[in-house]
Amino acid sequence: MNTHLPERDLSESPPEPLTNGLYIVATPIGNLGDITVRAVDILSRCDAVACEDTRVTGKLMKHLGLHKPLWRYDDHSSPHDRARLIDAMRSGAVALVSDAGTPLVSDPGYRLVADAREQNISVTTLPGACAVIAGLTLSGLPNDRFLFGGFLPVKEKARADVLAELGQVDATLIFYETGPRLTKSLVAIAKDLPGRTVSVARELTKLHEECRTDTPENLLEHYQAHPPKGEIVLLIAPPNDEQPHGDPDALLREALATLKPSQAAGQVAKATGLDRKTLYARALEIGAETRDKQGNL
Ligand code: SAM
Repeated sequence: MNTHLPERDLSESPPEPLTNGLYIVATPIGNLGDITVRAVDILSRCDAVACEDTRVTGKLMKHLGLHKPLWRYDDHSSPHDRARLIDAMRSGAVALVSDAGTPLVSDPGYRLVADAREQNISVTTLPGACAVIAGLTLSGLPNDRFLFGGFLPVKEKARADVLAELGQVDATLIFYETGPRLTKSLVAIAKDLPGRTVSVARELTKLHEECRTDTPENLLEHYQAHPPKGEIVLLIAPPNDEQPHGDPDALLREALATLKPSQAAGQVAKATGLDRKTLYARALEIGAETRDKQGNL
């Protein structure tokens, strides 16, 4: 990955000081190449960086060749800590980052931004990587209306309540998920929102990025056999969503009757726009399932 940044020409005049205030700075969600030019500029010119975990942000700053005071901040920080940060914004530029992605999106910052705005501090945002949007764009699910639900609750009853409530909304639902909880969520979706297409977008922007769009039952079968590692975005198609290209499994089965798995995957990828690598993996699974069934006859 090429993340080298142009070195500053020392003959250039020194950069303008930043306007005092708060700068909300998105950072990469896996691939360091996704840092924006503007994020690097602000991080290099700010007076201090407020961050969730100084070790995590310290690594990013080191990678960028930057040295700034790092102040730990999250929404459980004391009102005293928040007041100190607000004071710092009156006399300097404070950047707010989270461990990864866009601050405030299932990450700290809400109270700080609300307080800063209330106190007429200048607040500006530097958009960038965000797993919600990365997952949505990759999933192939309808994106004209979407609803981000944060993390699904861990407890069964609370999770079922959220699915029942949000499941009525005519929009693609997006949740943050963890590997160890994924199969329980898929069981709940299959039970509480039957017939809905689901996408699992995993390790976005990283080496092992994958996105599987399928029925919750098929996804459950897959992830029970291959426990998922890494970070996950879980997406659920809107109610009554017609897959524009039909059921990918059915298309693969049909293609496999006459083609090799790689050819079948290529044909279905072309017809549906779905990810060829994922379809190839699924074609191999279908082939193995078919052989098993034939062996059991
Ligand atoms: N603020 C971050 C953002 O803008 O995406 C999200 C922070 S939230 C605490 C962390 C969750 O985001 C993870 O548990 C996972 O569900 C999702 N996530 C973050 N990075 C991801 C990635 N590279 N691939 C898939 N999901 C990711």
